[in-house]
Amino acid sequence: MSADIKTPAVAEYLLLIEPRKDLSDAIINIKKAFYDQYKAPEALKGKPHLTLVSYVQYTSFESRIVQKLRTVSMQLSPLAIDLQDYGSFPSHTIFIQVVSRSAIQNLVRNIRTHLQGLMKLDKDNKPHFITEPHITIARKLKPWQYEQGWLAYSHQQFSGRFIASSMVLLKRESPDQNTSWFIVLNSRDCRSARLRQCCFSQMKNICEPIITNRDEQKLQQDHFKVAISSKKEEQQYLQGRGAQINTRNRFLKDERVKEHVEAIDDWDEPNLATQYIEQEAKTIVNKVESPDVGMAYSMNAYAGCEHGCIYCYARNVHEYWGYSAGLDFERKIIVKKTRPSYCVNSSCILNGK
Ligand code: SF4
Repeated sequence: MSADIKTPAVAEYLLLIEPRKDLSDAIINIKKAFYDQYKAPEALKGKPHLTLVSYVQYTSFESRIVQKLRTVSMQLSPLAIDLQDYGSFPSHTIFIQVVSRSAIQNLVRNIRTHLQGLMKLDKDNKPHFITEPHITIARKLKPWQYEQGWLAYSHQQFSGRFIASSMVLLKRESPDQNTSWFIVLNSRDCRSARLRQCCFSQMKNICEPIITNRDEQKLQQDHFKVAISSKKEEQQYLQGRGAQINTRNRFLKDERVKEHVEAIDDWDEPNLATQYIEQEAKTIVNKVESPDVGMAYSMNAYAGCEHGCIYCYARNVHEYWGYSAGLDFERKIIVKKTRPSYCVNSSCILNGK
């Protein structure tokens, strides 16, 4: 056999959600306090995060997995994640409990449906999809560390909430536990420049890139190298658009969509200019009934938005117009032509008359 034949490269991957910055800082302080008291070095490793999937795979599968994850995250509605008190996996791990488990479990189920096959290396290396969402305080504890730690933390209280709207995929190329993780995908990054202008200011700090390496500068360099090596792949993306495909409209029966982006009969999506479609509207004022949005009314002169934030809850409304919540949301902008009298009525609503 030729000595030139190389074994395909394999890497370890971690798909996760991270809490917003202030909550993350609070959990880091708890991890430090745990380390100070019980000298458990694992408590200091990594920033707080909620793991969704871990898997080992050939690096050659990476671009297909990233593409699929982009599609899944595009359909992801922001999730409210509630944290409450502490839990443990006897006799090695202590963590903060996630109370709103069903939302996470649904997301993991969705990822499993779309990516299980792609994430499986072989029969001995299948992806691990979490069933018990949690944020680890310390793991790999020695028996005495666990017993004493759990005795104390089982009586302590913790409470926190954050909105998650993006996922982060990390990779390390060696099974050596001391090698660096670096970011392959942050589903928020694709529109980071535009996200800064996002109208939902409460979502601005949801997902800074997670860094598990103490040498932050090196990690950023690694990330930069990845960006260069994947430039060819990036060129396939539609510049200036958050969504890259038109997702299925749930109200339409016969539709041609890219359900499986790796399929051989895929077509190239043309990068069409934005269209402005005029529409008569009764009012441009909407009553906001969602408990997650802190306002009573909103005023929208348009439906659709070129900013194209991947998590935007307004995307789904485009399906009522017969369009897709994907690319159509960003390039078919409905302009609500509203007569001045309707605006007067609207301002009456706003004034409570
Ligand atoms: S896409 Fe949605 S969230 Fe983003 S700026 Fe437009 S309306 Fe706001």
